[in-house]
Amino acid sequence: MPTMRAAIVDAEFAPRPGYEITPEEMKTRKVREGNKVWRNPKLIYRTDYPVPEPKPDEVLIRVKAVGICGSDIHFLETDEDGYIIYPGLTKFPVVIGHEFSGVVEKVGSAVRWVKPGDMVTSEEMFWCGECDACRAGYFNHCLLLNDPGNLEFGELGFTHDGAMADYVVVKEKYVWKIDSLLDRYGSEEKAFEAGSLVEPTSVAYHAMFNRAGGFKPGSYVVVWGAGPIGLGAISLAKAAGAGKIISFEVSPVRQELAKKVGADYVFNPVELLKNDIQPWEKIMEITGGKGADMHVEAAGAPQHTLPQIQRSLAIGGKVAWIGRAPREVPIYIEIFQVRRAQLFGSQGHSGWRTFGNVIRLMAAGRIDMTKIITSRFKLDDVYKAFERAHKRIDGKITLKP
Ligand SMILES: [Zn+2]
Ligand SMILES: [Zn+2]
Repeated sequence: MPTMRAAIVDAEFAPRPGYEITPEEMKTRKVREGNKVWRNPKLIYRTDYPVPEPKPDEVLIRVKAVGICGSDIHFLETDEDGYIIYPGLTKFPVVIGHEFSGVVEKVGSAVRWVKPGDMVTSEEMFWCGECDACRAGYFNHCLLLNDPGNLEFGELGFTHDGAMADYVVVKEKYVWKIDSLLDRYGSEEKAFEAGSLVEPTSVAYHAMFNRAGGFKPGSYVVVWGAGPIGLGAISLAKAAGAGKIISFEVSPVRQELAKKVGADYVFNPVELLKNDIQPWEKIMEITGGKGADMHVEAAGAPQHTLPQIQRSLAIGGKVAWIGRAPREVPIYIEIFQVRRAQLFGSQGHSGWRTFGNVIRLMAAGRIDMTKIITSRFKLDDVYKAFERAHKRIDGKITLKP
């Protein structure tokens, strides 16, 4: 059997006392809340992992670039009891990596739209297309994807072997061609780097344009958190004609990147507060007292951001909420009434041709996400790459098999 290189996360299956594990979870080990089940995680780099074989509806892809995501880092970081930080759907051991691009190596017998040699990327959400949620158009909320009893659907690099490897298989229906990026960049190297950033950028696109319905050109946009998703949001806001873009971010590297991709104003909220200035005051000052027409929350810190957002909403303002935080925070509904404002919860990146639109924006040069890559490693140096990732000094770290 042919073998390949692969970066795997494994951990002890040790459901926390108090976590009501279902019989399906016990049986399949596809668990809904990873941080309540997986203990003592480790990263394992293997060179003898079997190369997957595509089923009739699947595509085998030779990976060319794969990014390290915050969730990958949270698989390996633990709390005081040794449990992983990542709170969502997981099934270990698994080859990690879900932000990637590559070349089609081989296709299953039922594959129609792609062929060997095509440059592609893939969605990370493995939706079924047949459950009630999918048939309503809500692919990101697929019932089978989230069903511990179902092993066909799930998430790439979370429950199904991902792309931090020489090869990965995915169903054809999740694959998007990125040949157009080669025309834009003129170099395969760069085109694959851009292709590996379609997924995180699509998360921002989905929240701002599908869920929240977008904004009118000239609108004031505020982006909370300038990690890869926030940087995608800033790039998209710029491309969509925002009047002013304001971002709040604590990391100096990411502050610089925020400016590079289009933010007009970037502030460190902690510094502001130290000087007795509230972030919302800055927003009101910059917008001439009008407030933000759209807030994008990509920080996952509602206890800090929501009070600021509530004080700086324009009349008719929208809040596109992307950042995840497993906690409750108080909300002041009155503001949403008198400011005619609305909050949109958002998850995922599938549906509505979102990947396709992001690829078009990249191919047209309207957004250039390759600017956010600040470190590159060979796959063989995956341990070193993660050592650096834990320090959080980068925009994006990309691995090149
Ligand atoms: Zn991710
Ligand atoms: Zn479904």
